[in-house]
Amino acid sequence: MKFLYVGATPEVERGALEAVRDRMAAEFGLPVRELALPPIDFAWDAARRQYGSAEVLEMLMRACPGDGIKLLGVTGRDLFIPVLTFVYGHAQLGGRVAAISLARLRQEFYGLPPNREVLLERARKEALHETGHVFGLVHCADRQCAMSLSTNVGQIDRKRDAFCAGCAARLGRRAQPPPKE
Ligand SMILES: [Zn+2]
Ligand SMILES: [Zn+2]
Repeated sequence: MKFLYVGATPEVERGALEAVRDRMAAEFGLPVRELALPPIDFAWDAARRQYGSAEVLEMLMRACPGDGIKLLGVTGRDLFIPVLTFVYGHAQLGGRVAAISLARLRQEFYGLPPNREVLLERARKEALHETGHVFGLVHCADRQCAMSLSTNVGQIDRKRDAFCAGCAARLGRRAQPPPKE
């Protein structure tokens, strides 16, 4: 048996991990297991006051269990790659691991009152998006598809927490459970 793993760093609230886990199980049609991940202090960049997502992906590569098809790491820390101000997430295209950050999915980040439902909905969408990349999906022109590119939360809010028919078909060809021997 092979599993899709969803891991969380210690500061991630239980409910957020559960929301992501359940949506992933439904959308990818694969058995999902949880994994506890270490704090990502090692990725802290003092000059940027953010966490390097490439370092986080390296840690996830080491953390992915042998029976893991893919691993999505969820963190509450703000992630970046050097050429961008921030990233909502980062994936190895067609690889094994991806990460998403909840930091900029929270209404509080924008000076608004906290809204748990908004946070969970955005987290589900970004989890599908980054994990979709790991399964080899690229950005989609359908603005409602989870694979459409989002550079602000308004764009995330316009998406659905699901793949369009085209992306779902491409995914179906790639996310089949391995045949039994
Ligand atoms: Zn993307
Ligand atoms: Zn699509």
